[in-house]
Amino acid sequence: MSFADLGLSDELLKAVTDSGYTEPTPIQAGAIPSVLMMRDIIGIAQTGTGKTASFVLPMIDILAHGRSRARMPRSLILEPTRELAAQVAENFEKYGVNSHLSMALLIGGVSMGDQLAALEKGVDVLIATPGRLMDLFGRGKILLTGCSMLVIDEADRMLDMGFIPDIEEICTKLPKTRQTLLFSATMPPPIKKLADKFLSNPKTIEV
Ligand code: AMP
Repeated sequence: MSFADLGLSDELLKAVTDSGYTEPTPIQAGAIPSVLMMRDIIGIAQTGTGKTASFVLPMIDILAHGRSRARMPRSLILEPTRELAAQVAENFEKYGVNSHLSMALLIGGVSMGDQLAALEKGVDVLIATPGRLMDLFGRGKILLTGCSMLVIDEADRMLDMGFIPDIEEICTKLPKTRQTLLFSATMPPPIKKLADKFLSNPKTIEV
């Protein structure tokens, strides 16, 4: 399987080549075509398997070729830690360099000023930790009703860190008709339950 077989646009294929990748990893080969077909996905994969590109690449293609509703975030990526959120943001910038999509990184431990300014201006993608997102939500600074794509990354770590109630609440603030991608290294019962509740007819890819 080559990257060219996955259904990505020429621009994204160029970004992939520029990154030095020669062939997709198993999670990329399994997930990317289904994400592009707008399916919900459960990806059972560890960090280091290339799972970030498996959701960031098709997300960029979907957003870059869809129509934006003015100033509303269209996509939300939830990460358990600031470090992981920052890594995903770096990936997003690297692959999306020619996409003209905008992004806000909403993490704790840094001043809210830049984050509020970005939200005010309007962004396409939010990359967030649940705590900071809930905080901004509580202050009335965020509207998720235009987010038709949701990624819950590292779901088992979210569980270990006590974030599942926050995630459940966040899910209720997104439109019901949306695409949801859940990634986890393991599938303990509470994550299975979360997936049953918030994903629709998901395709499971285990690597
Ligand atoms: P991740 O599992 O998303 O944290 O990715 C782990 C590492 O693999 C990162 O440094 C990526 O840049 C790299 N990577 C992702 N996809 C590929 C690929 N298809 N070929 C080679 N390296 C990759």
